[in-house]
Amino acid sequence: MTRLAPGAAIGVLGGGQLGRMTAMAAARLGYRTHIFCPEADPPAGQVTPLVTRADYGDRDALARFARSVDVVTFEFENIPIDGPAHLATLVPVLPSPDVLAICQDRIREKSFLNAIGVATAPWRPVDDGASFASALTAIGVPAILKTARLGYDGKGQVRIRDAGAGADALRAIGAGPAILEGMVDFACEISVVIARGRDGSEANYVPVENRHKDGILDETIAPAAVLPAVAREAERIARLIAGKLGLVGVLAIEMFITRDGSVLVNELAPRPHNSGHWTIDACATSQFEQLVRAVAGLPLGDPARVADATMKNLIGDDVNTWPALLAEPGARLHLYGKAEARPGRKMGHVTRLRPIGT
Ligand code: AMP
Repeated sequence: MTRLAPGAAIGVLGGGQLGRMTAMAAARLGYRTHIFCPEADPPAGQVTPLVTRADYGDRDALARFARSVDVVTFEFENIPIDGPAHLATLVPVLPSPDVLAICQDRIREKSFLNAIGVATAPWRPVDDGASFASALTAIGVPAILKTARLGYDGKGQVRIRDAGAGADALRAIGAGPAILEGMVDFACEISVVIARGRDGSEANYVPVENRHKDGILDETIAPAAVLPAVAREAERIARLIAGKLGLVGVLAIEMFITRDGSVLVNELAPRPHNSGHWTIDACATSQFEQLVRAVAGLPLGDPARVADATMKNLIGDDVNTWPALLAEPGARLHLYGKAEARPGRKMGHVTRLRPIGT
């Protein structure tokens, strides 16, 4: 695949706000975006006329979709891997389905990280009562039991504070493979968003701090207030992971910084990430534009920031503050076009900038 000329079409699996903001960045560079998702009226479908509504496993719909686009990416990683794997036989899919397969399964993800020398919280795979009991002996308490697949925003997780509560925890997360992870007493949570092009060039944003409420990202502070050596280590790890994955696209790496300054990787997301939304308003090139550039075979843009920033998510009813946010000088409001403000639903975000270093 050569570099895509303006007018080419980028296919996106998933129709949420990440697809919407990717489509907006693609449009700015002269590309069309075709959204593929099973839901009606997806947020991304409001910014491009090209939408296929079908299940991710629908091979006929996938084949038609493949014929209508020049490259496919995704904005959502909990897609059964067969769909992207089939698509990849018809059209380039970037990041590759192999990367997606690693990142959508905590067991594969953590095995991969440890195999390339990246530290994580201690963990063990669990798939029944016996493996759970031996994992609990090895890891101790407090610990967290997480489903291996289909978890997000803290869903599919149970915290275990005393060893006797084990059976309930196993029941609470339901059937299927899981991992038991040691609880990290972290000083802060950070993430690094990195883009990697088809020529192996890389561009990462500064590490940012992420603060959660009820398991959902509440605020991202850019840059993270960590020592320079910790920031450099986080960036080194991000580049190592992107390179070893052979990533083409954008990857977010969530990390814990322990009280002694060690960096442990928690989770990978091979797509634009909520903790990278600040880059739209504060960087020369946003994470969405980087994704478009990477998959279109263009040179990556400059990830340098022109301001420091705090991004606040508008979750559920928070969105009702939009008139006040619009009236606030300097507040950059982004709404996702979702009709119903259900509790826990990401409805938009607001980014506030400040001069670098203040
Ligand atoms: P995850 O779905 O793995 O990103 O977890 C959601 C949130 O739960 C994280 O952002 C942390 O705040 C918390 N968490 C997850 N795993 C651990 C851990 N091993 N130790 C402490 N907190 C954790």
